Formats: sequence, C-alpha cells, structure tokens
Amino acid sequence: MAPPAHRTTAPRGGLLRNLPDYEAARTTFTWNQARAELAGMPGGRINIAYEALDRHLDSPTAHRTAIRYLPREGDPVDISYRKLAERANRFANVLAELGLQPGDGVYCLAHRMPDLYAAALGTLKHGCVFTPLFSAFGPEPIRSRVEIGQPVAIVTTERLYRRKLAQWIRGTPSVRHVLLIGPVEDTPPDTLNAAQAMAAQSPEYATRPMDPEDRALLHFTSGTTGKPKGAIHVHEAVVAHHITGKLALDLHPEDIYWCTADPGWVTGTSYGIISPLTNGTTMVVDEEEFDAERWYRILQDQRVTVWYTAPTAIRMLMKHGPELARKHDLSSLRFLSSVGEPLNPEAVHWGRDTLGLPFHDNWWQTETGGIMIANFPGMPIKPGSMGRAVPGIETAVIRHTDDGIERIEDPAETGELALKTPWPSMFRGYLNEEERYRKCFVGNWYLTGDLARCDEDGYLWFIGRADDVIKSSGHLIGPFEVESVLMEHPAVAEAGVIGIPDEVAGETVKAFVSLKPGFEPEDVLMKEILALARKRLGPAVAPRQVAFRDRLPSTRSGKIMRRLLRARELGLPEGDTSTLEGGKE
Ligand code: ATP
Ligand code: MG
Repeated sequence: MAPPAHRTTAPRGGLLRNLPDYEAARTTFTWNQARAELAGMPGGRINIAYEALDRHLDSPTAHRTAIRYLPREGDPVDISYRKLAERANRFANVLAELGLQPGDGVYCLAHRMPDLYAAALGTLKHGCVFTPLFSAFGPEPIRSRVEIGQPVAIVTTERLYRRKLAQWIRGTPSVRHVLLIGPVEDTPPDTLNAAQAMAAQSPEYATRPMDPEDRALLHFTSGTTGKPKGAIHVHEAVVAHHITGKLALDLHPEDIYWCTADPGWVTGTSYGIISPLTNGTTMVVDEEEFDAERWYRILQDQRVTVWYTAPTAIRMLMKHGPELARKHDLSSLRFLSSVGEPLNPEAVHWGRDTLGLPFHDNWWQTETGGIMIANFPGMPIKPGSMGRAVPGIETAVIRHTDDGIERIEDPAETGELALKTPWPSMFRGYLNEEERYRKCFVGNWYLTGDLARCDEDGYLWFIGRADDVIKSSGHLIGPFEVESVLMEHPAVAEAGVIGIPDEVAGETVKAFVSLKPGFEPEDVLMKEILALARKRLGPAVAPRQVAFRDRLPSTRSGKIMRRLLRARELGLPEGDTSTLEGGKE
C-alpha cells in the first residue's frame, strides 16, 4: 500500500513558485515555449555558455554573484556573472590560440575550484565538447575514458597531473594539450599553466553560435551496472537544463543554491553549472568533500535556500543523528531535493522532522541529461515515490512483447520505465556504441533500463534496475522496497538487497546492512531486523538472511552497487570495478 501523501510546506522567502499548477502546466507546456525563455542566437543558433553567462551581461545580473566559492580554509570568494564570463572568455581564447576547433574534445579532471567553471564554460563558448571526469578516479578509469573519447585537450591540476596522468598521457595520440588550472608551482614539461595563459588573453570572446544539434557534452555514466558508457549531449540540451531547474528545483534569481554533486558527474554539470547560471542564481561551491558539521555550517552561514543533494549524503547526515542539525539555524532553506538513487521514505520524513522540510526526490539518468520525473514544489510528496513526469515529458510503464512493447495500464503492475522521444537533453548517442544506443529505443520510446510502477495519480515508484530485480516464488521483488523497510530500523544506516539462487523459489532475498554508530552486529539485532522486515513485507518478500557489513560497496558517485554484493556473495567475477568507491587508483 502506498504511504500517505504529505503536502509540502508553503514556500519561504516570499517567492512565488515557478510551477504553481502542475496539472495546468502539463497541458499547456511546450518545449518551444521553454526555448523562448532563453536568449538564443541569430539564425536559430544556440550555445549553452551563452545562455549561462553572456545573456545576463546586459542586465543587473551581471553584477550579482554567480559563484560563492568556499575554499577548504579561509573566507568565501564571490565571483560575479561578469567576472565568470570574462574568465571563461579568457579560457576560450586560450583554446582558440592552441588551435582547438569546434567539436574537439576537452576533458576536465579537477576538484571544485573556480577555474574549473571557467574551463567548462570557456570550452562550450569555443564550441568544443566538454567532458567532466571525477577527480578521485585513479589512472586506469581516466585512461579508459580518454581512450573512448579521444580528447584533444585535458584540463587538470598540477597535483593530479603528476599523480594520475604524467606516466601515460604522452603515449595518447589524441591529447595535444594539457592545461593546468589552480596553483602551479613548477610547470611540468609539455603542460601549460592555464592561469598564466589566460592572463595573456583578452577577457572578450564572441561566443560561437552553434547548431542546436552540435555536440556540447560527453558524459560518462556511473558504471553501476557495468562498464561506463559515454553519452553524447548537444547544445539544445540547455533548454531542458534551464526549464527543469526552474520547475523541478524552483530556482529563482534570488536563490542561494547549493548542488552538492561533484562536477565530475552529470548532475554536477547540468545542475551544478548550467541550470543555476541560466536561472541567474548564486551557487555555493564548496572545495571540500562531505563533512556533516561543515555541511550544516554551510547551509546556515551561506543562508542556502535551495539544496540539491543525494541519498548517500542524506544517509550520512542521518547517521550523525538529529542533534547536530538542531545546533544550526537552517531557517533560510526553502526547498530540498535529492537525486541519484532511490530516496527511502525514511529520509523524506527525516528531512521534515530534522531540517523542517521534506526532501523532494527526482529521477533522471546521464542519458536523459536532465530531470525527467520529480516531486515538484507545491505538489503533495508521496514519500518513496520519484514523483511525476516533467511537463513536456511523457512517461510510460511498459512490458516487452513478442513484437515490441505495450503500455501497462494497471497501477499495481511493474514494468520498464520508458520516455517518449524526443526532448532537448536526450542523449544523441553512446560514443562508439551505435548498436547499444539503437537498442535503447523501440519506436519513439526510450527504454530506461529501470523498473517502475505508475499509481492512479500518475506518481512513479522506482522498483529497481531491470538487472537488480529479484524473482522469488513467482513474485517480482524490487530491492528498493525491501531496503526502505530495513532503513526504518533505528540501527540501520545503509541497506543493499540482492537475490541469491534457490532451487525451490528461484531466488531468495538476502540483505546486507551497515549499522549506525553505537550498534553492534549481534545476533539479537539481526533477528530484530528480520522480524521487522517480515512484519512489514510479509514472508514472501522479506529477506531470509541479513548480513552485517562495515560499509556497502558503492560507486564513487555514492550509489550502492548491488551487482558487486551479488558477485561477492556468489563468488562470481566482479566485472568492472573502476567506478567502485575506494577501488583501485
Ligand atoms: P550505469 O548506467 O553505468 O550502470 P548509472 O545508471 O548508475 O550507471 P547514472 O546515469 O549516473 O548512471 O544514474 C542513473 C540511474 O540512477 C537511473 O537509471 C536509476 O537507476 C538511478 N536513479 C537516479 N535517480 C534515482 C531516483 N530518484 N530514484 C531511483 N533511482 C534513481
Ligand atoms: Mg544507467
């Protein structure tokens, strides 16, 4: 049975919601209208960076803070829209002088620092294709992505270059330039000190007008289910970045917005660079990684209004207990949102009880380029549900048939989540994997590989990835449902659920849990957790076994890797582990 719906609290800060009436927007929304909210360029051309920066420069926004940068130590640094545009222009001029052509690939491997943003936007201004890489990757995952994408230039820091690139990058024929951002003490041979090069360039640059279908971004998927894929996105995608940030995250120019996603992933680009800038917000950029106390302090001291984070971070905050949160003044917050993994109902409630606001889950993928399904502001939240389709996006839950697919109308039935094409930020290919790309589509439907259910009110419920779903005695069991119940136990910090082969049932459910501080992995606790699961889920769905782990294997972007739990349990090959948190560097 679906848990009760919760109405979101009234907006704080006196702002009117961007989406006052979801139902009305569903009928009136058009992508053309969304596109008309942007400036565009003459002749139907467009450039993501133009929308993020240039178009603000003739308005008062030019002088507002685009980035409030919080260095590891010391005072915040404010960078205005104008200053950021100038920095990006200098970077674009450096690329031009180096001879880079539109369409050339530029990879960026760096932690959060101001010139990462200038590099990303400068790359787009010059018409080159930007790819962010997660800075905690070791040399192997970096190398394999370089081999797939064949970039012409790599932007990184001196330290990362020495540790992760220097040994092999010269043997890579495509890479002609390495640009070092941030402080450079001693410029290594064959690299360029970007700050110096930028200082020698003009702060003016005429942003290249691009065809809407020209490539702009190449994003690698998280590698949760296997080898990461390179998803290609085009300049037109900015239409979706902008409007989904506006409608699903309720971004207003008055907002102090904090997206905690690393800029090495798609969320850190679509909603950590592009959307907040096209919407004219001030974005908080913290140099540091997760630290519960630091995070609460940032929310408090920076007066953050809109916060976009992920279940893995929320689980870590929950682990620290409510006391820490209550020591801080979090009254500036007006909208909390989460993405990347299923958000357990427990986390929604925790937000409301501890932070004063519930978390609004939303769903999308590297392939979709932007938010597709969301618990919109002003709409009742159903905890555990991903929400409803973005206006302009048609979703369906489908089953595969002998001659294609058909729509499932029964709200109780699970099927594969499909999205009707096209939309502006839809990926236009998997790099070098044309066949794989084609297989994602049947007719005009894109098949997401995720399983879901759609209830009577149009809310979508995530069941699991098609590969993770467990079939036990004729039941289809979604790991998420079981994990959410396990999370209700006060001792459980994280839960991962898999199916293990069973002669009678086909598969049985096994759960792995990590515990909150202060709890011991004892037999009585295991029995208690099993009993809770049986009571809430019934014996057919509840796990037969619960095993304790200090931590669960997760990707570097923080997603629990069920395929690894399964491989380890069954002694199967572990497959690609380059995206594993704490994996080989
Ligand atoms: P790979 O495709 O390489 O296996 P990945 O699918 O984890 O990696 P991403 O594109 O970063 O790579 O993640 C998208 C996936 O994350 C979705 O398909 C879905 O499985 C999961 N996901 C994202 N947001 C949510 C959400 N709100 N609820 C449930 N699952 C989500
Ligand atoms: Mg995927």
